[in-house]
Amino acid sequence: MTIVKTIEEVRAQVKAWRAEGLTVGLVPTMGYLHEGHQSLIARSVAENDRTVVSDFVNPIQFGPSEDLATYPRDIDRDAALCEQTGADLIFHPEAEEMYAPDFCTYVDMDHLTKGLCGKTRPTHFRGVCTVVSKLFHIVQPDRAYFGQKDAQQLAVIRRMVRDLNMPLDIVGCPIIREADGLAKSSRNTYLSAAERQAALCLSRGLNKGRAAVEAGETDAAKVKAMITAEIEAEPLSRIDYVEIVDWNNLEPVDSTAGSILAAVAVYIGKTRLIDNFIIER
Ligand code: AMP
Repeated sequence: MTIVKTIEEVRAQVKAWRAEGLTVGLVPTMGYLHEGHQSLIARSVAENDRTVVSDFVNPIQFGPSEDLATYPRDIDRDAALCEQTGADLIFHPEAEEMYAPDFCTYVDMDHLTKGLCGKTRPTHFRGVCTVVSKLFHIVQPDRAYFGQKDAQQLAVIRRMVRDLNMPLDIVGCPIIREADGLAKSSRNTYLSAAERQAALCLSRGLNKGRAAVEAGETDAAKVKAMITAEIEAEPLSRIDYVEIVDWNNLEPVDSTAGSILAAVAVYIGKTRLIDNFIIER
């Protein structure tokens, strides 16, 4: 496995693989890898001849008051995890390699990016769509792997690929959790011991909501209230949103009878955590 920092090196390697007729999978990440990322890498390794992991804390997807400066980074640990999981190449560029000083071209999306996380993070998905488009152009993979953990992101990337006719398949992968239910996240490292315990209110609330839907509850407002009550019962929590939307277009629903995404964003202390469940039917 090799680590490269320039676009030119990625292109040269992928060109050599293509000359041999090999398929290529891409796993875009912001690094500080955990078992959630690892599950995406393992899936790519299983489904492609070669796997590229991008490891880049993308500055343009952070808002001015967000955690860009403190976002955890550890490339040596990431490299060991990638190697052990069977990845072939890590692309670990500096911000200057990705963004020229006079960079001014963005990929933007209406509708899907306005609700849920887009409400409090108005420039986030523009940053995500732009960097992911750049990575798709740099690597030109056959498949790219994204976690359901960031469900809105998965829906947005799928729509971008469809709308702009990008020639690759997007593979969505299930949420990997800690034994007690907390969705794995690089941001979990911000939590104190008390906050780590408090953070369980997200998965607890969502589990209650999912159980109600599975038991036949179709009133979205009731399910939302159930999830909200469970999260609000935790004193260290502050809800950003609790939403139930149509999984196909992310529009709010009154009934949970169709394919739905139930998504939450909650501050635990200063740390903003997200989690969700999807029911497809
Ligand atoms: P990030 O490094 O947080 O930008 O995440 C990179 C990719 O890993 C995204 O597609 C995430 O959805 C995915 N991911 C992060 N955490 C998890 C998790 N707990 N389970 C599954 N996928 C995850």
